[in-house]
Amino acid sequence: MTPLKAAIGDAIAAAYAVAGLRVRAAGCRVLMYHAIGGAVAGDTQQLYSLAPDLFARHVGMLKRHAVVSLSEGVARGEGLAVTFDDGYRDNLTVAAPLLVEADVPFTVFVVPTFVESGEPQYLSRSEVVSLSRLPGVTIGAHGYSHARLTACDDGALARELADSRAWLEDLLSTPVTTMSYPHGAVDDRVAAAAAAAGFTIAACSRFGSHRTGGDCYRVPRTDIWSFDGARRLQRKIAGRWDWMAWR
Ligand SMILES: [Zn+2]
Repeated sequence: MTPLKAAIGDAIAAAYAVAGLRVRAAGCRVLMYHAIGGAVAGDTQQLYSLAPDLFARHVGMLKRHAVVSLSEGVARGEGLAVTFDDGYRDNLTVAAPLLVEADVPFTVFVVPTFVESGEPQYLSRSEVVSLSRLPGVTIGAHGYSHARLTACDDGALARELADSRAWLEDLLSTPVTTMSYPHGAVDDRVAAAAAAAGFTIAACSRFGSHRTGGDCYRVPRTDIWSFDGARRLQRKIAGRWDWMAWR
């Protein structure tokens, strides 16, 4: 995705709206953020780090919606939920103060090997604990090493899932039952393994919304990009970018 392609996407979103084709906005919409201001390794298109002032504008919009926790949204099949992948330090230092102030709950999916790497862009162990103690914050798993789970053999798959959960539960002394799939990679075997590992909710990266009775091991999410202004965010929340699921 590039700013130019996104502009074309806006036109498609508008056409969908005009045609009345789009808006199946019903269900729980889950937004997927990554970093807020910090570096994202391998992000060659610079999609995944939002400028802090832009994120502050997003929070201003989110405040006007009924934002719920991921587990509540999935259980009810409605509402808007906010998630962050990979466990960037700026989730604690930049995003959390804005979200807590706005009373917006959110989930951060943390990768143990990223934490243990000591790389400055990622949360440290003590920072994961600090984040978990803030009001409205849920910590979820995101694999043990961020491996593409669909490419793991059965043994490695089971270890990635079980070890990610055990590492977080040991650190936080609380049950960890939600996760998101690294790279959004999921198939029937991976989804079954996530259930077997004790997770009750697993989010993927396919656009859409989760309706009552939907697959809790393929909860759709709406990808948020660094150049998404308030207007595009509003369109994404309204479901007008869900055609991306079929691209
Ligand atoms: Zn990730």
